[in-house]
Amino acid sequence: MSLYEQFPVTLTNSLTKKKEQFEPVVAGHVGIYVCGPTVYSDVHLGNVRTFQSFDVIVRYFKYLGYKVRYVRNITDVGHLVGDVDDGEDKIAKRARLEALEPMEIVQKYTNGFHDVMRLFNIQPPSIEPTATGHIVEQIEFIKKIIDNGYAYEKDGSVYFDVRKYNESNNYGELSGRNVDEMLSNTRELAGQDQKEDPLDFALWKKAEGGHLMHWPSPWSEGFPGWHLECSAMSTKYLGQIFDIHGGGMDLKFPHHEAEIAQNKGCCQKGGANYWMHGNMLTVNGRKMAKSEGNGFTPEELLTGNHKLLERGYSAMTVRFFMLMSHYASTLDFSNAALQAAEKGYKRLMASFALLDKLPEAGTTTINEVRSNELKSLINDAFLNLSDDFNTAKALASLFEVGSRINTFYQDPDQLAEMDKEAWDYVMTHFKGIITEVLGLRQEAEASGSNSALEGAMSVLIELRKHAKFSKNYELSDKIRDDLKAAGIQIKDEKGGEMSYTID
Ligand code: AMP
Ligand code: ZN
Repeated sequence: MSLYEQFPVTLTNSLTKKKEQFEPVVAGHVGIYVCGPTVYSDVHLGNVRTFQSFDVIVRYFKYLGYKVRYVRNITDVGHLVGDVDDGEDKIAKRARLEALEPMEIVQKYTNGFHDVMRLFNIQPPSIEPTATGHIVEQIEFIKKIIDNGYAYEKDGSVYFDVRKYNESNNYGELSGRNVDEMLSNTRELAGQDQKEDPLDFALWKKAEGGHLMHWPSPWSEGFPGWHLECSAMSTKYLGQIFDIHGGGMDLKFPHHEAEIAQNKGCCQKGGANYWMHGNMLTVNGRKMAKSEGNGFTPEELLTGNHKLLERGYSAMTVRFFMLMSHYASTLDFSNAALQAAEKGYKRLMASFALLDKLPEAGTTTINEVRSNELKSLINDAFLNLSDDFNTAKALASLFEVGSRINTFYQDPDQLAEMDKEAWDYVMTHFKGIITEVLGLRQEAEASGSNSALEGAMSVLIELRKHAKFSKNYELSDKIRDDLKAAGIQIKDEKGGEMSYTID
């Protein structure tokens, strides 16, 4: 019996607002699509939370024995400033500000995104399609929506007709918005701009003067609307009906609502069977966002070089901090919570490290009760993970196992009484859940075990892997001294670029 039959997954479906048993489209397979980043700026820790939540979900499906196809896109065109239909493209704007080609911006921030994902041990998806790489598919998608009568062309742009769609469908089924009400409120405004109704959204926009990114289409030289790429690429790689579509809560409306409408408008099918939304990382109750000034970057977090941070925290401490809450609850950032997470992470990994130092189990009369008790602690971790991916509760079971490991280390006679098969099961899955599902790894203890130093070291080690490092970067004197003591020489260069050597 496979693990997924033993521990069937239930998950909260944002579409039905119910917790449901997961039934894949194809037995033993999971097809999942998660909205990726718009690559026009550095990712902040809030973004990391969403991608880590889905990383754990994907990792767990794999661990249970499913064959997973995980598609996470890169938005490299069409996402306009303010998430609206008019205005500058976020990437084009950044290109103008940095005096670079739009595709240089895309490459730069895609690289940065990948570095951050690696730092937090977030696995790459199976396919990472880009919007600009799928212009043809998006044009075909629009043609079908027009043929079905759910979109209209106006002066070279194409808009989705929400009013028409809503006559026979429910625009609002995901977000719970009352669109009839919204439509009647917008009636007077209808037709004041290119759109027939303000609720309509762009599928294709004609490139107006000076717009840098544009492609030929049957309607105009232009570019696709922001919502369209996800419909076109999820359909291409996962099919018209697939298992799970995920993203942050803030994408429910309009982005995901629009995706469902586009999918149905094109192909009469709404895409995913299950919609999952990760909740926001907040600071003092406010969503972490670049525009709020509370969205620090991972580098700032690791070095402690930000006004919100008392000191630096390592990547695994942060990963652990995020695992301590359920993905669908908000998580408030605080130094106190991170320091608690740091202790928890170290405690769990200390038990983990003892495993390899323990002697053989099952060398004397077996204590069945203790053997079964330990096995059921591991099963509890599985049951909690299968219950809507409750990492917080699973960690509680793992801590229990950890404290038994500590006891066995102190008193090996107790381990001798463990049934060998039960102990193998416990060891295998204690290790497996920690490393493969939760994605935690041992962090090298830097000299002095100063966590800011550990943080800075992990940045440096990570950067060394990628050979190139050029961004504005400041190290506090304390970290600079600690790094020096650890044999790492920092050399500032003009323009705030930093180079370093490691002895
Ligand atoms: P963006 O590049 O802005 O489209 O965001 C990429 C992903 O990060 C999306 O899934 C957002 O929902 C998510 N996100 C943005 N801010 C936060 C936050 N404060 N907490 C959690 N997820 C976030
Ligand atoms: Zn999307």
